[in-house]
Amino acid sequence: MERTELDKIIALLRARYPDGDKCSLGFNSAFQLLVSTILSAQCTDVRVNKVTPALFARFPDAASMAASDIDELESLIKSCGLYHSKAVNIRNCARMIVDDFGGEVPDNLNDLVKLPGTGRKTANLVMGEWYKEPAYVIDTHVKRIWHLLGISDSTTPETIERDLRALIPPDDPSAADALALSHLLITHGRSTCVAGRPDCDNCCLKEHCAHYIAL
Ligand code: SF4
Repeated sequence: MERTELDKIIALLRARYPDGDKCSLGFNSAFQLLVSTILSAQCTDVRVNKVTPALFARFPDAASMAASDIDELESLIKSCGLYHSKAVNIRNCARMIVDDFGGEVPDNLNDLVKLPGTGRKTANLVMGEWYKEPAYVIDTHVKRIWHLLGISDSTTPETIERDLRALIPPDDPSAADALALSHLLITHGRSTCVAGRPDCDNCCLKEHCAHYIAL
């Protein structure tokens, strides 16, 4: 797909979802964004946003989270699911931030992905949302819709990220569009292009969708 067509897709999604290009998690620091994103795995952002006010009131930063009691931490995040592994990851993540990074969330992708529970998706989100660097967030919605639209032949998060970087390079004046596109596709995937039951008749992208055109 050419960049001009991708720009049309971004414009159509922005028109359809005026607030859909923003992160829907609540946070007041890079650490809180990181923790919220780890909690959002296989959980809704709405649920995470219900849990985090009490969690961050008790453990507002990496230092306090690193010293947390695991049972108390689990009880605070229980409703997000997978609470045992998430609690272990969050506490170990906080401990690494304290021990190896002076208590500050790293501001580069290479160090971010060293943190427990932090893959490229989460690391890119922190880079884009908090540090305002070009970011390429590929989650399950982005992966699915990218393939349906036929933007490229790529089907894995790694190759989709590579292709998105090529279409919207980090030094491009509109590199922030890469993160906006991810948020917009996530919004589209939750509301219209839902996994297994896409509402193609009411989709703003059908004229640009390889899947729809081939029907
Ligand atoms: S036309 Fe259908 S398959 Fe294509 S993006 Fe829209 S909802 Fe998804």
